[in-house]
Amino acid sequence: MNLLEVKDLHTHFHTDQGVVPALNGVSFSIKKGEVLGIVGESGCGKSVTSLSILQLLGNKGKIERGSIQFKGQELTTFSKKQMRKIRGDEISMIFQEPLTSLNPLIRVGKQISETVMLHREYFSKKQAKDRAIQMMKTVGIPQAEEKYNHYPHQLSGGMRQRIMIAIALACDPELLIADEPTTALDVTIQEQILGLMKKIARETGTSIIFITHDLGVVAEMVDRVIVMYSGQVVEENDVIRFFEQPKHPYSQGLINSTPAIDQEQKLEAIRGNVPAPANKPAGCPFHPRCPVAMDVCKTTVPSDIYFGEQEMVNCWLYDEEAKTS
Ligand code: SF4
Repeated sequence: MNLLEVKDLHTHFHTDQGVVPALNGVSFSIKKGEVLGIVGESGCGKSVTSLSILQLLGNKGKIERGSIQFKGQELTTFSKKQMRKIRGDEISMIFQEPLTSLNPLIRVGKQISETVMLHREYFSKKQAKDRAIQMMKTVGIPQAEEKYNHYPHQLSGGMRQRIMIAIALACDPELLIADEPTTALDVTIQEQILGLMKKIARETGTSIIFITHDLGVVAEMVDRVIVMYSGQVVEENDVIRFFEQPKHPYSQGLINSTPAIDQEQKLEAIRGNVPAPANKPAGCPFHPRCPVAMDVCKTTVPSDIYFGEQEMVNCWLYDEEAKTS
């Protein structure tokens, strides 16, 4: 059984300017111990997908339809109280910028032990503190006992992100969602944090959803990739096949515009921008930017075409009838 199964997820934001459809039928799954990468440019729906899973959409966001099954339980039917119990316990999240995610007025160690107390009511304060120090050591914070009493501003960016990881892992989650966890860090610290997360995934069997626009991170970290564009999944593939034979023209564009993949290769930026969710073009949403768009692409939305169980592309190029018509 998959640990998490998202099916046909539609999330909308109800704004003063009208309804903004941010997700349009997103489907994917993740197995126990698997590391899944969700890639795409800003505004493609990556973060809204993770916030929908955790039901952290704020007052304006709403899951309109679709299903999110976690260990066979339908999360879309859960109450706020039930979701609070799952968040930070069975499903945890690491955000991009630790300085804004940590409370500046509370000592970092206490922020970890408070998470432990929230989900493990039977822990004494002493046990929660011991657990926090143990987690700080696990994520490689030197002099953990002393750093327990530091405030966030007294730590470096890399150390703050380690604290965020310690908070996220404090209750042994089965699923960790990491949203651009290393974007705000310099390259050396980025490498250390990625190495740490890889070690955690290997040693604990925690499943990880890695949300990123950085294909170098994807190549290093994940087993499987889903590519999002304009609020939908346009390709799903094994990480090796994704880099060797990307199917969707958008995936090909992302790879061709990434310097880290092949330094010798001439970089080609994808022309144009991601359409605003409220202003999507007809047909395939990628058609205004697609170098191989056909007439059918401008009028008709392509369907998902599967190659085996976990390889999918949403593009008319793989539909023989559409190509010849
Ligand atoms: Fe390009 Fe058409 Fe495929 Fe969309 S459906 S990616 S426009 S070829």
